[in-house]
Amino acid sequence: FPYPEFVHSLESPRVVFGFGSARLGPLAEELDRLEFTRVLFLAAPEHAEIAQRLADRVVGVFTEARMHVPVDVVDDVVELATERGVQACVAVGGGSTIGLAKALALRAGLPYIAVPTTYAGSEMTTIWGLTDSGLKRTGRDPIVAPRTVVYDPELTLSLPTPMSVTSGINAIAHAVEALYAPDGTPIVALLAEESIRALVRSLPVIAAKPTDHGARGDALYGAWLAGICLNATTMGLHHKLCHSLGGTLDLPHASTHTVVLPHVLAFNAQHGPNAVRAMASALQVEERDAPRALQAFATRLGAPISLAELGARRDGLSEVVEQAVNVPYSNPRPVDAADLMALLNAAYDGRVIG
Ligand code: NAD
Repeated sequence: FPYPEFVHSLESPRVVFGFGSARLGPLAEELDRLEFTRVLFLAAPEHAEIAQRLADRVVGVFTEARMHVPVDVVDDVVELATERGVQACVAVGGGSTIGLAKALALRAGLPYIAVPTTYAGSEMTTIWGLTDSGLKRTGRDPIVAPRTVVYDPELTLSLPTPMSVTSGINAIAHAVEALYAPDGTPIVALLAEESIRALVRSLPVIAAKPTDHGARGDALYGAWLAGICLNATTMGLHHKLCHSLGGTLDLPHASTHTVVLPHVLAFNAQHGPNAVRAMASALQVEERDAPRALQAFATRLGAPISLAELGARRDGLSEVVEQAVNVPYSNPRPVDAADLMALLNAAYDGRVIG
């Protein structure tokens, strides 16, 4: 039994899940239930039309959320919210849009409903991020959790296939690191394993047929569970590296996770056997082959497997290594600068693992 001692405390927002739940009654019912009558609607541009269905409850629409939540955008939206006498927000989009709603909750105390349209999982966490003068700060505060999360797989039908695949593997990364986290519990492990299974079975179907309703529901279900894992545990080397790579080399969030995860899984294999076991079982391979099989899975689904493909500069890798060794973080296997440089060089080249 891998959890002889643990403390389990899982807080998680109310979830309304269902195909059409953002388009049909359930989202409006949630607004009524929470008595949100003057709402600011934050949306990725492709989902702005949902605001029309909520009629006169919506007193403002903002579609300019940007990756990593720049403070000048937050300033603009706080001004708009004050001007319109806004009482709450509805955030429809990926991690960037939900990140903006979190910043408003933190800054102005505005509660919100999250309607996620990617698999990033931010809606399940109390983690916020803000970028000021190129520097990204993150923290935890219960005030940034949404009052309700409305998961509507219909909204993900338009998520382009490459983004669906990388965002799904981003979610798998949360589950993988939860399986070797120092604060993992048997319940979190069940959620993580189920999340990996749901995403591994649904992503190939989505890659072949992006409009498959069943697979879209399955992937969003897996992403929800992965988001719970992200919130419940302390992430390790993988998330640290992706955070530094994104910030230092300005790389896209989900693709960076996709490229790096097999390398970290291989690096931590001996020290985090539960993660390898769960991946191997979902991918139906031997445990020792799990990291390589995960990389092959990404390749089969057309995802990038090298940092070079993402436009990274090789000469920027040493800065990432420096950041990663200077900030304390949890990882089942001790890490030094030489290990990290080797790992990042392999990820840069997309070298086959194993
Ligand atoms: P994103 O929100 O930046 O979206 C990526 C692109 O996809 C955007 O252009 C968006 O408009 C488009 N898009 C989103 N949903 C779509 C859909 N259904 N159909 C068509 N287009 C769609 O990307 P992301 O990966 O979801 O989020 C990344 C950001 O979230 C990063 O800044 C990351 O740090 C943050 N994040 C935070 C947490 C947390 O717990 N705080 C967790 C995960 C990610």
